[in-house]
This record gives sequence, structure tokens and C-alpha cells, in this order.
Amino acid sequence: MTTSENLTAPRRPRTVDEHRAFVASLLAPMPAVEVPISGALGRVLAADVVSAVALPPFDNSAMDGYAVLAADVAAASPDSPVTLPVPEDIPAGRTDVPTLRPGTAHRIMTGAPMPAGADAVVQVELTDGGVETVVVHGHPAAGQHVRRTGEDVTPGATVLTAGVVLGPPQIGLLAAVGLPTVAVRRRPRVLVLSTGSELVEPGSALAPGQIFESNGPMLAAAVADAGGEPELLRFVPDDVEVFAELLAEKAGGVDLILTSGGVSAGAYEVVKDALAGRGVEFVRVAMQPGGPQGAGRLDGDGPAVVTLPGNPVSSLVSFEVFVRPALRAAMGHPHPMRPVVSAALGEALVSPAEKRQFRRGVLDAADGTVHEVGAPASHLLASLALADCLIVVPEGVSAVDRGVDVEVWLLEA
Ligand code: AMP
Ligand code: MG
Repeated sequence: MTTSENLTAPRRPRTVDEHRAFVASLLAPMPAVEVPISGALGRVLAADVVSAVALPPFDNSAMDGYAVLAADVAAASPDSPVTLPVPEDIPAGRTDVPTLRPGTAHRIMTGAPMPAGADAVVQVELTDGGVETVVVHGHPAAGQHVRRTGEDVTPGATVLTAGVVLGPPQIGLLAAVGLPTVAVRRRPRVLVLSTGSELVEPGSALAPGQIFESNGPMLAAAVADAGGEPELLRFVPDDVEVFAELLAEKAGGVDLILTSGGVSAGAYEVVKDALAGRGVEFVRVAMQPGGPQGAGRLDGDGPAVVTLPGNPVSSLVSFEVFVRPALRAAMGHPHPMRPVVSAALGEALVSPAEKRQFRRGVLDAADGTVHEVGAPASHLLASLALADCLIVVPEGVSAVDRGVDVEVWLLEA
């Protein structure tokens, strides 16, 4: 191809996968930060966790009952009980644990340390529950109802590996091995900035031609939901200078600048006008909704920038497709993508063959079918709010019959 042909040829739209890879390449892996375990829910572990202690840390009773020498009660039964003196009481937390002399029993509670000299626990239900003496009518095997030191965790064992997402059991384990803090991947800091001279703050009055601003709160919530740390900026009018000033003031110290609006083919495209030539590429992506996209690094070496289109459905769908996986990958999340399942389409649909289409759907878990909610148009926010999944119609497909299996992204998992 000659240079002139190259210049006159219409530029091929980017594929969804190409743009997703480009956006992901803009976010470097997040560094590790130490956080209190009480704030670690949902965070990704940055380093292996090695236990310094054994769990349990000492042999202890698994039952409320009596610590005994199994041989002393080997003959005990309901018909011929054995009576033993009870010289000691060992509640949970007792630290000066007296040795058991043969022919005696120590009353012991669940979690209390086993006395030296005892090798089994008779549960209280197999006794008369006595305090001075106890009548035992059951015979535990040696070792029965004793929880052994280290049977859960041995000292030096790796109990959690880097990359694990911390949920309630993992946080419980960190506490159990004595750690008040944990190293996790830092949350990406994301500036969220909407543009449009027609926008007004929810709660104020609407003049004719104005709408309430909705992308900012929506995208800030999406960032938080993805694990990032949003900073929601006041939206700006379609004024390049105001936009550029706000950016200059706020761009320091953030990992990603996320804008909405002002990137399509009209006049007054404030984001495009302000950021073209500043390291951001504006492209068309072969998808619907969400064709007009932009991404890059501010002034070549600044924070990542992703410019989403303004229509609310386009904005959130393109966040799902491009931004959410990039944020989660930067945090080292083992599953950056939404869970994908296959479901039979409830009603036939048509789709533009040259684009990958993302339709809003509701999954019927009972019969494994998926149904579209609302129409494909990208301003229909109420039907997006009803959806629990996205239905993906791939490039090259112009119609899908009812009953055919389609790819479905689960939004609520
Ligand atoms: P734009 O991408 O700026 O051309 O906007 C496309 C459509 O989305 C227009 O109808 C805008 O009014 C609407 N829109 C843009 N930004 C927002 C926003 N932050 N909140 C609600 N609607 C918006
Ligand atoms: Mg606009």
C-alpha cells in the first residue's frame, strides 16, 4: 500500500478486544499497601502470608466435659459407671494448667488447655456433671475430643498466597494467626468527570433543555464496585478552558482520569477538543453501544485517561467492557472479567453485523434462558437498571434465533 492510499483509506474501527487491551496497558500494576484487616474485605493479597504460630496454639478440649486418662474410665458404661474426684476446674483462658494425676478428672470447657497427664475428654453428656466428684458412664478412646497443637496450621506454613481475594474466612484466618494488618494491592485512584452544558445537579430545578447529571454518580459507583477509589468531580460545561483547568488542578496523584461525554462526532466535543494532541487517541470501536472512545496517557507520561461516551448506557457498558477489567487486572485480581455463562436466548433479535453488541438482559436461572430488557438504544437508563446481565452478540452476526445459546456476562456476581 502506498502512502497516499494509506491516507485516503477510511480507518478501520478498533475491535473491542484491541481497545480493551490498549486500555489495560495504560494501568500499571498497583503497589502493595499495608491495611488493617478490618478494612481488607475484597482486597487482593499482595504477598504470601506465612504463619508464625501453630493453630491450635496448644492442645485443647473440643468438648465441655472432663479431662481424663482414657485408661481410668475404659470400663465405664451406663451399667457400671466410674466415679472420679474432680480436683480442678479448667475454664477456657486458664493459663496455669495443673497436671492431671491418675485416677482423677479435671472439669474442662471447650477451648481450654488440656492438662498434662490427660489424654482424652469425656463429654459432659456422658457424666452426671459433678463438681466435687464426677460419675462417668462413657469411655472415650485415647485422644478423643482433644484438638491437637498445629493440626490446622503449623508454624512456618504458608496459609494464604499472593493474589487471593480476601473474604470473611481469609480475614478470620489472618486474625487467628495473630496479624492485625495485611499487605494488599493499592486501590487505583480514579477521577470521575462528566461534561455537558445541559447537565444540572440532581436536587436542583431543571430549565427546559437541561437534564440531571447521572453519569458521574453512576461511574463513581462502578469504580468503587470494581475495587477502585473514585473521586467524583463536579461536572463541567462544554468549555475547553474550564475542562483543562479542572484537569490541571486535579490530575496529580491519580491513576486514571475517567471522563464521560464530549467524544463523538458533533460540534462542542469538549473532551476531544481539550485532549486531542495531549496523548489521548480518539477512535471508533466496533461495538454498540459505546462506539466513540478515547484512551491514552495524559501528555504522554501522566495518568491514564479513558474517555467514555456520554449516553448513560454507552457510558456504563463501555466501563464494563474496558475499564472494569483494567482496574481489576491492575489490582492483581484473579478474575478481572465478569463471570460469563451461556444461556438460551428468550426472543429472537437482530444486531449490526459489523459490531459487537451488548444488550441488556435478565437471566432466568430457573430455565436457563436470557431475556432482553428494554431496547438497544443507549439513552434507556431505566432498562439498564433492571438488567442483571449483558447479552453479547458477536461481530459477524446479524440475527440470532430464539433458543440459540448466547454469551451472557453476569453483572451481579
Ligand atoms: P455526548 O457524548 O456528550 O454527546 O452526550 C450524549 C448524550 O448523553 C446526550 O444526550 C447527553 O445529554 C447525555 N449525557 C452526557 N453526559 C451525561 C451525564 N453526565 N449524565 C446524563 N446524561 C449525559
Ligand atoms: Mg455532551
